[in-house]
Amino acid sequence: MPRATIPAHGRPADEILSELQLRKEGDARYREGRTWSLIYYAGDAHHHLMARAHDTYLAENALSPMAFQSLRRFEAEVVQMSAALLHGPDSTVGTMTSGGTESLILTVKTWRDRARRRRPWVRRPEIVLPASAHPAFDKAGHLLDVRLRRVPLLPDGRADVAAMARRVGRNTVLLVGSAPQYPHGTVDPIPELGALALRKGVPLHVDACFGGFILPWLERLGVAMPAWDFRVPGVRSISADLHKYGYAAKGASTLLFRDMSDMRDQFFVQTDWMGGIYASPGLAGTRPGGPIAAAWAALHAMGEDGYLAKAAQAWEVAQRLRAGIGGIGGIGGIGGIEGLRVLGRPESTIVTWAAAEGGPDVYAVADQLQARGWAVDRQQGPPSVHCSSNAVNLPVVDQYIEDLAQAVAHVRAHPELSRQGEAAMYGTMAKVPLDGLVKREVGKLMEGIYGGDGTVPTTSAPLPPMAERALDLFDRARKRLGRA
Ligand SMILES: *Cc1c(COP(=O)(O)O)cnc(C)c1O
Repeated sequence: MPRATIPAHGRPADEILSELQLRKEGDARYREGRTWSLIYYAGDAHHHLMARAHDTYLAENALSPMAFQSLRRFEAEVVQMSAALLHGPDSTVGTMTSGGTESLILTVKTWRDRARRRRPWVRRPEIVLPASAHPAFDKAGHLLDVRLRRVPLLPDGRADVAAMARRVGRNTVLLVGSAPQYPHGTVDPIPELGALALRKGVPLHVDACFGGFILPWLERLGVAMPAWDFRVPGVRSISADLHKYGYAAKGASTLLFRDMSDMRDQFFVQTDWMGGIYASPGLAGTRPGGPIAAAWAALHAMGEDGYLAKAAQAWEVAQRLRAGIGGIGGIGGIGGIEGLRVLGRPESTIVTWAAAEGGPDVYAVADQLQARGWAVDRQQGPPSVHCSSNAVNLPVVDQYIEDLAQAVAHVRAHPELSRQGEAAMYGTMAKVPLDGLVKREVGKLMEGIYGGDGTVPTTSAPLPPMAERALDLFDRARKRLGRA
């Protein structure tokens, strides 16, 4: 394909808009409920409101709260509404960010800088967190030179508080729990983590990026929910994404602190630049006004009743998935799909399925589901598939379960499918014991995607030769050891 260039003459608006529509056609079909991650769609009417609210503040720049005081007011009100929902005390403060990742990078930066200021003996700052915590923490640790101490989970998918306690030391600047963690939708034991935090004199951050705008509604609907928000002593900060179950336009998350003395270290101030005094609360310089205005509009448009109705529907989807895949009780009881099991505890709208003992190759089943028009979110350790349930999935959830049962049957009849498609790549990655090798292969994939002309390599790429060779060597070594 020739390299794209700016056209010599500007094109008419409607021509451009129809090209945008045309180019979307091959993308994941979220409006039809075919996605189980990435998208939180609250329907066409809400979508159009988001578009108009975003559009109203398309040009404004929240970098200057002086110039655009209305934006600062929207942001403050979004923070206040979020703080009230999460039972923050009156002293709760916070800011909006571009998303969960920015909220978590700022979390790590804030607590690191506070430790530097208050505990100057901390030379190599560390965070203690469960194995399930989001990779945005790894990104933050990488950027901010903070070391992560990840602790293996309990068998039920929750953080192992006793094991975490043993990893807390003089360099620990932060403890982390998730509500819920993304891989299985399980809520970490926040009350126990809060008690640990208080005992050790270390702050606890709750990553509620996923759950911040869904767990409170589930709790009100009567779902058994362990305490996890600001009601728990020891919880000093919480991140909650508006662009997930807040149904806001993308580019919107909140980061809340119990009070300003906790938040102070978030701010960046530069006073001697010739361009003037420069101060900002987050990673961005220019801050788009659209996501702030749209988030405020989303909270007002949904209201408590709107969120409760959406949450009830999302919960019903999750319940049907649990029963349909895992059977009664959701863990391989009566009914369900033979050969599959559901991971994690039923505390959120996430349902993750994996193979039961002697079950099919999960990645080969995933490929079959994809071929039937579903967007599939593959996970590892163990191989599993993640489903974040939403109201938009309700009309098609039974179809999903039926297609999944068919996919399982098909893979059982065709075991060679494990060596084809994405199953081959994921299967290899899962078995290869060398992390560096996998990293290099994924790095090459990234170079292919971001160095190319914009066409994304198809998923049926052959097995990376390096990985293939390593896997064979590993297999042979294992067999030899087994025989010895
Ligand atoms: C989505 C998510 C994040 C990261 O949020 P982004 O908006 O994708 O940057 C962090 N933690 C959890 C638990 C999440 O679900």
